[in-house]
Amino acid sequence: MKTCIFCTIASGKTGTDLLFEDEQCAAFHDINPQAPTHILVIPKRHISSLNDLGQVPDTFMHHLFSTTRDLAERLGLSKTGYRVVINTGADGGQTVFHLHLHLLGGRSMHWPPG
Ligand code: AMP
Ligand code: ZN
Repeated sequence: MKTCIFCTIASGKTGTDLLFEDEQCAAFHDINPQAPTHILVIPKRHISSLNDLGQVPDTFMHHLFSTTRDLAERLGLSKTGYRVVINTGADGGQTVFHLHLHLLGGRSMHWPPG
């Protein structure tokens, strides 16, 4: 498999500042932020996309979502609101093929997304 940038970040080898990490997941700032707060939450194990969810236990996504919720709370977004996005595949706009949740906040979001 080609080197995966998010696996490398999760391993600590890039020196990327992690806002949070535990045994299963890690969170860090998006390099190209689309909102005042733009965090990526990733599983440490490599899963290419939401299409591959069948490979993981039922509790897996719950953990990623509750970590994202806790970060939103910690970063002061819970009251004003925020958006959580999982781009999947080419039409979904996915560019990094390691599953990740975008946590976006700090401004009003538009709907529908472009
Ligand atoms: P997606 O288009 O949903 O696959 O999102 C991939 C996201 O990863 C984009 O928002 C990129 O800006 C972000 N990204 C790519 N490389 C890095 C990196 N080395 N560190 C932080 N964020 C990154
Ligand atoms: Zn990976």
